[in-house]
Amino acid sequence: MSGCALPAKKTNLKDDPMRFASITLIALVAGAVLGAYFPSTGPVLALGGTLFVGALKALVLPIIFCSVVASMARLGAQGKIGGLLSVSFMYFLGTMIAAVSIGLVLVNLVAPGSGGELAALAGDAPNITGPSSPLAFLEAQAKKLVQDPIQAWSRNNILAILVFALAFGLALGKSGKGDGVASGFEVASDALGRLVTLVLYATPVGVFCLAAKQVAQTGWEPILKLGSYVLVVAGGLALHGLIVLPLVIWLVTKRSPLSFFRAALKPLTVAFATASSAATLPVTMEAAEEELDVPPTVSRVVLPLGATVNMDGTALYEAVAALFIANLYGIHLDFGAQLIVAVTACLAAIGAAGIPSAGLVTMALVLTAVGLPLEGIGMILAVDRFLDMMRTSVNVLGDLGGTVVVNRFAPVGSEDAVGEGGDA
Ligand code: ASP
Repeated sequence: MSGCALPAKKTNLKDDPMRFASITLIALVAGAVLGAYFPSTGPVLALGGTLFVGALKALVLPIIFCSVVASMARLGAQGKIGGLLSVSFMYFLGTMIAAVSIGLVLVNLVAPGSGGELAALAGDAPNITGPSSPLAFLEAQAKKLVQDPIQAWSRNNILAILVFALAFGLALGKSGKGDGVASGFEVASDALGRLVTLVLYATPVGVFCLAAKQVAQTGWEPILKLGSYVLVVAGGLALHGLIVLPLVIWLVTKRSPLSFFRAALKPLTVAFATASSAATLPVTMEAAEEELDVPPTVSRVVLPLGATVNMDGTALYEAVAALFIANLYGIHLDFGAQLIVAVTACLAAIGAAGIPSAGLVTMALVLTAVGLPLEGIGMILAVDRFLDMMRTSVNVLGDLGGTVVVNRFAPVGSEDAVGEGGDA
């Protein structure tokens, strides 16, 4: 390939990723235990969590912009964009439909909240104003999709930056004269990768602080109170994340689920602790490239796309939550209404930003579409953060799976294995 190859991004963490991931996992559990037994430590440790998430967030937009432009310029020059994007979107949509279906089947089987015993939960409605119709929702999304890039950057509008970077990178590649500029973005992308590596050394400490803060803040009580609902969401997420996704990956790539999970452990713990697929993106990229050997040209397009639109966990959660709220209010949703729930849950998940509680807000679309009261959101608020941590992990797992699937169906060729071996 031309001098357009992104330099390698190697880290010492690669030497023993399993050990590092295990330490992070232990830190997560230790943080949760500390937060539960010594809640007064929560506010102090929250500072550490804020610093860690802040450092990750600071890198997200620059990484998305530089790496997407660089990869798109390369793929555009080779005419390989179409295959990569169409496989990505087919995978995103297919897995999201599977996730929603699992959620709907489980929630119909278990019927949480249908006994009326939880009806007292109604009342503390949050001030959430949702779109008045699916069309209004789409209009709001369209406004977010295309925005002046400077404004989008200052408003942290990842979607608009992503769209701009995709278009700009493609135009650069097609211009036939973009090699120099593309190389500049590749170098910037590599430098940002090095910063990510530095931040990642703090992962166990960051995860420890976040877990302690979270448990100290909310405790376990709401989770126990809404047990059946939490169990249905958690069970659905577990089915999708532990069975469906690994099965798809195994069928497509023959990669063993164990090796996939090994590679995914670090981004999974960060996703769980931060409840943000956008903040986890730098870690997910590192895992895809370093652990799963996905060429950066693929991972640096598929992962930013995935972190923005591919949200299996959120889609599943939105569907279950809508039916749970219907049960609480004693409203029966027939097959047709549940179909609307399924479609709008996918739309709401696609529209949700990769930040904490985004799914809770876009759920207004699902509820409005089938005439459920928005106040219902107030009933599930207390457990949302916990469920958010779980659904974000599944979102990130789905993104990571997307890179290996896309790499199998739309390979960019070994000469494009950006970052292979050229690093100091
Ligand atoms: N927190 C989720 C994510 O970042 C989005 C959601 O709220 O469901 O992927």
